Amino acid sequence: MTRQIQISLPSTGDDEWHATREPLTSGWLTQGPKVAAFEKAFSQRHAVKHALATTSCTTGLHLILAAMGIGPGDEVIVPAFTWVATANVVLYCGATPVFADVERDTCNIDPVDVARKLSPRTKAVIAVHLFGLCADMDALRAVLPANVPIIEDAACASGASYKGTPAGGLGLAAAFSFHPRKSITTGEGGMVTTQDAALAATADQLRNHGASISEEQRHNGPKPYLLAEFNMLGFNYRMTDLQGAVGLVQLAKLDRFIDERDRWASWYMEQLAGIPWLRMPQRSAHGKHAWQAFVTTVDPALAPLPRNQIMEILQQQGIATRPGTHAVHLLGCYRDRYGLKPDDLPGARDCDAHTMAIPLHNRMSADDYAYVVEALRGIG
Ligand SMILES: *Cc1c(COP(=O)(O)O)cnc(C)c1O
Repeated sequence: MTRQIQISLPSTGDDEWHATREPLTSGWLTQGPKVAAFEKAFSQRHAVKHALATTSCTTGLHLILAAMGIGPGDEVIVPAFTWVATANVVLYCGATPVFADVERDTCNIDPVDVARKLSPRTKAVIAVHLFGLCADMDALRAVLPANVPIIEDAACASGASYKGTPAGGLGLAAAFSFHPRKSITTGEGGMVTTQDAALAATADQLRNHGASISEEQRHNGPKPYLLAEFNMLGFNYRMTDLQGAVGLVQLAKLDRFIDERDRWASWYMEQLAGIPWLRMPQRSAHGKHAWQAFVTTVDPALAPLPRNQIMEILQQQGIATRPGTHAVHLLGCYRDRYGLKPDDLPGARDCDAHTMAIPLHNRMSADDYAYVVEALRGIG
């Protein structure tokens, strides 16, 4: 039988399974002590004052924009090459996503194009740390007026850093993802981080239906007749305590996961350097790459075959690959809504057409990595 190598596999097992025992037996199943402990540990690891667990990175980003009061008439600049949720959350608020192009070598937002897309209505920029590589925050900050904050879409960037500061503390607020495709997982889940106490307090209320006091406060308080007040329209974006328990265990493994990924990323770069048509991802020039994915670029001028055919050949050999992510302006719900053309964002168009993620995760063996390298060398 041919070897089967997945693009990504979560590294969960007995430790995570045991961790869910306590909430399952205590009966405290939704946001409670385990979530609080996970938030505390996450905020310490990422050197931020506030961390709020959510149901996903998507709902985390939505919470941040809602807590900032972003709404109809406002514009938020987002990169055009990203997971669709980065733009969707702007629409959830009734605001308008404005696409900025990305740099072809890093796949991250291009500050030069951001400067062109600014308008008096710009209320924020969402910088995505794509695949675990932090966006060039200083270059981005340099083109923005002081009243336009940067929000980090740190979905792929747990454990990443930029110029000595961990992701999560590089802008006004950040949202992380614990989807199984990311380096640490809680099944579904996310985390909002910020240094801003007022923003954290508003996001905390919005996460729990807009309630003025939490279930836990009510449960433990001396006044049984007390119900929360609801003075704002909130959501239910609470993480469960089962997920919090799993997250605590996963977080303790984060640095080991990243170090291992970093070693194999270096090995891939050495081993694949001789393939002229396959461009390697950028190492971080400014800090720690979290290697959520290892995304290569198939150079169309040099490749012996089109990218998609290469992906099919690898698939036949049991090796999963994927395009890096989408050019969001080419997706129906944005293309049709705003009448966007591929050439409007040429960097995103090219990243969409030419990127190819190859397997990199913490359940691959040395033989698996060698097999991927041999298969790529064999093409052409
Ligand atoms: C995965 C991902 C998201 C969505 O995260 P969820 O937790 O699944 O909502 C958002 N943005 C980027 C860049 C992602 O990679």
